[in-house]
Amino acid sequence: MDDIARGGGSADRGCPKCRAAMEEGFIADHMDSIKMQSEWVTGAPEPSFWTGLKIKGKRRYRVVTYRCTGCGYLESYAEDLVT
Ligand SMILES: [Zn+2]
Repeated sequence: MDDIARGGGSADRGCPKCRAAMEEGFIADHMDSIKMQSEWVTGAPEPSFWTGLKIKGKRRYRVVTYRCTGCGYLESYAEDLVT
């Protein structure tokens, strides 16, 4: 299922700066000792007393970030809808 959503996979994603190979990864969010994958949330951030930011009812996507093995350039994709 994931391969269809990604439109062909990561193998042909070269660095836009130096054309070197990009390796897949993600930006880790830290909540105390818990590590989480970053998410992209639609709309402006709204403060919430209980959870820090209000994300209820908003569309969220897991952020996949590719890192260039040549120059270290990071490129992020928010393709996987969080359900
Ligand atoms: Zn590069």
